[in-house]
Amino acid sequence: MVKLQTHQGHLQVAGCDVPELAAKYGTPFYLVNQNLIEDRCKEIHADFLAKYPGSRAAYASKAFLCLEMCRIIAQQGLGLDVVSGGELFTAVQAGFPMERVIFHGNNKTDQEIAMAVDHQVGRVVVDNMYELERLQAEAGRQDRKMDILFRITPGVDSHTHKFISTGQLDSKFGIPTDPEHLRDYMDKVMTMTNLRLLGFHFHVGSQLHANDSHLKAVEILAGIIQRVKEEHGFITEELNVGGGYGIYYTDEDEPEPLSYFTDGIMETLHKECASRGLNVPAVTIEPGRWVIGEAGMTIYTIGSIKEVPGIRTYAAVDGGMPDNPRPSLYDAKYDAVIANKMDAPRDAVATIAGKCCESGDILIWDLPVPQLAPGDTLAVRSTGAYNFAMASNYNRLPRPGVVMVKNGLDRLVVRPQSYQDMLSTEI
Ligand SMILES: *Cc1c(COP(=O)(O)O)cnc(C)c1O
Repeated sequence: MVKLQTHQGHLQVAGCDVPELAAKYGTPFYLVNQNLIEDRCKEIHADFLAKYPGSRAAYASKAFLCLEMCRIIAQQGLGLDVVSGGELFTAVQAGFPMERVIFHGNNKTDQEIAMAVDHQVGRVVVDNMYELERLQAEAGRQDRKMDILFRITPGVDSHTHKFISTGQLDSKFGIPTDPEHLRDYMDKVMTMTNLRLLGFHFHVGSQLHANDSHLKAVEILAGIIQRVKEEHGFITEELNVGGGYGIYYTDEDEPEPLSYFTDGIMETLHKECASRGLNVPAVTIEPGRWVIGEAGMTIYTIGSIKEVPGIRTYAAVDGGMPDNPRPSLYDAKYDAVIANKMDAPRDAVATIAGKCCESGDILIWDLPVPQLAPGDTLAVRSTGAYNFAMASNYNRLPRPGVVMVKNGLDRLVVRPQSYQDMLSTEI
């Protein structure tokens, strides 16, 4: 958990004064702490990559992606997960090294497959037979050889909201582990001259605080690695264990360090491989939320404050579900502070409402706050992941911009949409 810094009652992020940023840029905006992103990348290097030679890490770009984020991730020496043509296009435009790109997705279109082959992305993670055949055909057409992994549904249930749980058997993602199924894929891929299977991928879910689903999935995958070796003579070179490492949103979260997951994964993998007489494959991790989540805040201005006598006080902000759909989508919990009243006692309670025409447009229920006044600056914490990325134009609210801060300096890396921008595709 990141400790909040204050100076004379004002919230400070990376040495920048948040109420001053609010005055300079106008609210709402996403505030991203580049120092924290870089600290997380360094932790990945020190506690995982340096410790386990041959291992790799790719940032799951769906959590938060813009050109500047691609440049930061490239500069930090990590790879990049993409799941769509749009994400790949962003990476291409940012000059991201394509050999470090991993292309996911359960329904890649013909155009996306062609793009992946054309740009020679480092890995395509193949989700299903339909994709496998089209990828082989396209790679043949372009006379290229593509490195691939098979996405496996390990059939483990993770302890998280069902909308962000992905590893259970009943899932739209991946290839089931039953022997018949996988045998078909293995037989098929061995005949495909433009594809080179390197190994397997799984992703069990998101915002996990316990490592048991990862460890269980590693055991299941070790069984598969053994089976394909015995049945097909296939040596697995790579195992991609996905992301899902949990972060701090509220005091209900007690996040573990990354090494709690990665050391556990590596220990289980080594043990499983030793007992089955297998070579240990190189491991890739794909953290998204863990890299960016706590580095982000959303900065709003408080407007109308409405007391419903005997029930609760609603304080409304100049944004809401279009810039942060997660509370209404999966009942996600957030904490927030009043950035211009950091020294005042939190002796009142307010429910933070958005400005949209939906009763469900509530960002935070019953938040302890100091005495509020219109014009106060609200900073919602841990909004770095799946906020900007999921933002919509509901009620025709323009999407907020992104202000990046580092070592006391601030800069705009995504400008806010204008009303005109919202009409730019209309005929
Ligand atoms: C979403 C996703 C991730 C990242 O998940 P986080 O919970 O943000 O770490 C990694 N890999 C795949 C395949 C994903 O779909």
